[in-house]
Formats: sequence, structure tokens, C-alpha cells
Amino acid sequence: MLPLIVGNWKMNTDLCQGDALVLKLRELLKGADSAEVVIAPPFTSIHHLYHLLADSPIKLAGQNIHWEKNGAYTGEISGEMLASVGCKYVIIGHSERRQYFGETDETVNKKVFAAMRHSLKPIVCVGESLQEREGQKTLKKIKTQVTQALAGLGSAVKDLTIAYEPVWAIGTGKTASPQQAEEVHNSIRELLFELFDAESAREVRIIYGGSVKADNIDELMAEPNIDGALVGGASLKAEDFARIVKFQPR
Ligand code: PEP
Repeated sequence: MLPLIVGNWKMNTDLCQGDALVLKLRELLKGADSAEVVIAPPFTSIHHLYHLLADSPIKLAGQNIHWEKNGAYTGEISGEMLASVGCKYVIIGHSERRQYFGETDETVNKKVFAAMRHSLKPIVCVGESLQEREGQKTLKKIKTQVTQALAGLGSAVKDLTIAYEPVWAIGTGKTASPQQAEEVHNSIRELLFELFDAESAREVRIIYGGSVKADNIDELMAEPNIDGALVGGASLKAEDFARIVKFQPR
């Protein structure tokens, strides 16, 4: 499967800054075809960037989605809206949304279905806290999150990506070691085989996120069950993100 590298810009970049970042990225990534590249800018920039990326393989993702199609949900964005401005992917259940905006495994599941209804490929984030890791509860936590987020999906799961993002590694500069990440990715793959038919389970991409940088991507991508990366901070620097996209497993 083609690895997937996703840049999550979070609440960064205004229209001009986003414009400059994308123009640089387009240039730096010309001819780079060893990964599928997706960026998730703020909602306010997506439509503009869609036009800038018209002849580029770089795809767009929303950072969030509401499960309803439309209605009285002030401040929310629906799948229909994301699709109409050119998104192909959507990030769901990022730990910052779980931590600051009350997202639960149940709302994540509803959002996954809403995304699929609009042909948006969900990137579902899961991950344990430092306390859970230190209490040896990592695999149990991940199993619960994945099982509940994907409940009821069936073979549609093949279009979905799971991003394993240990909460203690996000924006902290602490990356999970390749071995720590691989252990969790492998357990997710085994769980997928338990929950879904083999053909679909095999196609789900499991990507890693948490302080991925130009200088640690190569060793992470050398692990057999790491199918790509979800990149926060380093995706805001075109050179760094381009180097991550051009990883060389070792
Ligand atoms: C993220 O936002 O999903 C993330 C992993 O952030 P960072 O790369 O900055 O740790």
C-alpha cells in the first residue's frame, strides 16, 4: 500500500501564510511519488488552497466534521460542506478535540459514518495518555478506542486510516520509539483482523503521529506496520514536511 503522510496544521496559518506554505510545498514535492500527501489546513483556507492545488497530487483534509448534514449547530462544519470545497479526507477524534472539546468514542463513531456518507476518507486518531502508558494500559485503551470508533463499519473500513498518536508525544518533542510505535500498530492490525474480513483489514492504513520530524521519520517508516505519519508542528515548515514525505526507511 502507498504510505500516507498527513500534515495537520491545527489552528495555524491565515490565508496568506497558508498560500505561501502550499506554494513552497508544491515546488519541493514535485515528482515525489513514494507517498500520498494530504494537508489539513484551517477550514478558512481550504477552498482557496483547493484552487492552488488544482494540478497537484497534494490532497486536502478537514480537521473535524459534524455528523449531521446541516442544521442548527453553530460553529460546526458538515461532511457535505467539506466535500464541496474539495476535501478528500477528514481527521476525526484528534486527542486535542477529545481533550478540549469533549469528543468521545461515540461521537467519533458518528463522525466516521458521516464522513463515509460524503466519500470523505476518515483518519481516526487514537492514543493513550502518559498515565495509561505508565500503568501498562496502552493496548487496552487502544483496543477500546478502535473497537468503538469503528463499530458497525463492515468492509467500508478499508477506506479508513487509523492514526496512532500517543498523547504524551503530541507537540512535546517526545516521539515514541519505533519499537513502541510498532508494538501498538501491530496490535491494531491484529484487532482489525478480528473485527473485519481479512481483505478489508489488510487495506486499512495505520499511521503514526507524535513529534514526527525530518530526523526521526526514516526509522519510524522502517517498521513493518507503520504505513505513514500524521505530522503536526513539522508540517508548518515546508522543507521539513517535504523531507518527511521523502522518507528513506532505515
Ligand atoms: C498532531 O497534531 O497530530 C501531531 C502529531 O502533532 P506534533 O507532530 O506537533 O506532535
